[in-house]
Amino acid sequence: MSKTNGKDADGPETGKNRETASQGDAEHTGKTKGKRAENRAEKADAETRKDARKARADHHPPSSAAWARAVDAGMGGTAPSLSPHLHPRLPRPAPGIVTVEPGTRFSLASVDPDATGGLDKAEAKVALAGEHARIKAWQEKLYAEHRRSLLVVFQAIDTGGKDGTIRSVLEGVNPQGCRVWSFKVPSAEELDQDFLWRYHAKAPGRGLIGVFNRSHYEDVLVVRVKGLVPEETWRERYGLINDFERLLTLSGTTILKFFLHISKDEQKERLEARLEDAEKHWKFDPADLVERKSWDAYRTAFDDALSRCSTPYAPWHVVPANRKWARNLMVARTIADTLEAMDPRFPPPREGLEGLKVPD
Ligand code: AMP
Ligand code: MG
Repeated sequence: MSKTNGKDADGPETGKNRETASQGDAEHTGKTKGKRAENRAEKADAETRKDARKARADHHPPSSAAWARAVDAGMGGTAPSLSPHLHPRLPRPAPGIVTVEPGTRFSLASVDPDATGGLDKAEAKVALAGEHARIKAWQEKLYAEHRRSLLVVFQAIDTGGKDGTIRSVLEGVNPQGCRVWSFKVPSAEELDQDFLWRYHAKAPGRGLIGVFNRSHYEDVLVVRVKGLVPEETWRERYGLINDFERLLTLSGTTILKFFLHISKDEQKERLEARLEDAEKHWKFDPADLVERKSWDAYRTAFDDALSRCSTPYAPWHVVPANRKWARNLMVARTIADTLEAMDPRFPPPREGLEGLKVPD
């Protein structure tokens, strides 16, 4: 460790002070133990300072707000992080999914919404059944273990397929161990609270899988696009979201965030299908046509949210979502892999059960 590094990281102490101090030490040591002892003492001193800096860094990671701003400026820097032993075990996402590298600028334009992850439709159907079985088995253990939870967040433009993905992926999951929340325009009561209040209240408790159909990200997406709060308010929210997700992670929740990525043409087809089929009329919202006019503004807001809020502990996964069958498999596989990496266990059997008889 060079002296310069030590000075910089140690903060208020000036280089001049440090030099004077070590010169004083060297004089004293040199008189009593000679040059080698002096070197040893200096090295030990440097190690101590290094350890102290590391300890401080472990306990005080850079503020998420500062980091989100740095990403925006194109200089990622050190991401807000958790101590390694508290970091959730996150597997690589399923083939086809693009994970936003924390600390980098990301653009949805770099992802092909038609991508299928290399599978064809027939293969995907068989594979999906296998993923359902895996999710079911791991969910039972998560529920029985009753120590940790999984939060799955879905965001997408209107018609992006959030409802359909949730319906497909959660097939076979025990409803008792799962909570799905759809977030709509906030109520008057919700608007009287801080913006994270309603989401925090629905975060999954121990043993549960929680699903957010829309989420706290709406407060930097629709809210930004429609100008529902001043710019300085939504700008501050990226860092607050990173802090919120850090809190949930530290409290035992693994967070999986999926952005379902469709093209503008695909949205047109889906809206037309809703208009043409009487049984799909209930899904058609004329407001979606108004929102479609803001397509570019939404894309900018998505790019910013995905860039600023992809962290090592809660990265964003972009799912090519034009092909529903491919999308469903990619999401299901990533959920199954994540549960497997969490590795929940049945609790050990109670002691003293041997020999117990159930009375007639
Ligand atoms: P849907 O998901 O189609 O049922 O529509 C829900 C609507 O609620 C969408 O238009 C969202 O943009 C809107 N919404 C969700 N969260 C918020 C929020 N925090 N602020 C404003 N609008 C929201
Ligand atoms: Mg809608």
